[in-house]
Amino acid sequence: MNIIYSKEIRCGQCGRKLAEGAYLTLNIKCPRCRTLNHFQAKSHPDERHERPAT
Ligand SMILES: [Zn+2]
Repeated sequence: MNIIYSKEIRCGQCGRKLAEGAYLTLNIKCPRCRTLNHFQAKSHPDERHERPAT
């Protein structure tokens, strides 16, 4: 189950606030520095493939 938190969405480059709310995936271009920011909601901080602990 994914829990989507409502939060501020800020540009990763300049820190400008771009939006606020909840999302699964979001592509948004910063009007200030023109950086294309890609955001993806994650249920876990590390989304890499699980490795069996051997
Ligand atoms: Zn920016």
